[in-house]
Amino acid sequence: MKILIVEDELKTGSYLKQGLAEAGFGVDLVQDGDDGLHYALTDAYDLVILDVMLPGIDGWAVLQGIRKSGRDMPVLFLTARDQVEDRVRGLESGADDYLVKPFAFSELLARVRTLLRRGGKSTESEFLRAANLELDLMRRRVSRSGKRIDLTAKEFALLELLLRRQGEVLPRSLIASQIWDMNFDSDTNVIEVAVRRLRAKMDDGFEPKLIRTVRGMGYVLEATGCD
Ligand code: CA
Repeated sequence: MKILIVEDELKTGSYLKQGLAEAGFGVDLVQDGDDGLHYALTDAYDLVILDVMLPGIDGWAVLQGIRKSGRDMPVLFLTARDQVEDRVRGLESGADDYLVKPFAFSELLARVRTLLRRGGKSTESEFLRAANLELDLMRRRVSRSGKRIDLTAKEFALLELLLRRQGEVLPRSLIASQIWDMNFDSDTNVIEVAVRRLRAKMDDGFEPKLIRTVRGMGYVLEATGCD
């Protein structure tokens, strides 16, 4: 699956590129509207992430050019908080969804997956599993041994991240940047608290225990070798 990002703010662009690459997508990043349209019409992308305010032609013109060429890949608009009319205009001009900056990466990833699924192009499995734990990506549900577990949106995103990278010790800084927004201060104990709550819901009262704290390093989810 290949994604084109058209974003002139370098920090946001590289943050998105890195996150999407880590999630397994092929990613191209360009920084102005003219390159954006050129890339979108030259290569076969499954999805385009498009900032509105760009040097060169703006996001609207890029979108128009894409649709005029007959290409129907989903387009996700990035818009500033105060530009409500932009969102309406974006959806009217053929964008499929929009996100208001600043946003958490997990939110963007969820939108991207939904758009790709809607396009019927996702070959990704709808479930993530470890031992008797099952996470249903489509219906946003989690169960253990068939017993439904209710999670908040953040807890769900956290569990999804841990499941996708099973067996890997995930540092707090990585969890912070993926689940909270990019400027999140990872020195706070928010992550610790969130992990504790998540474990209380999906590990307490079940065997085997899946989430483990690796002291001084981070957290890991694995179905074997749990203590
Ligand atoms: Ca911009």
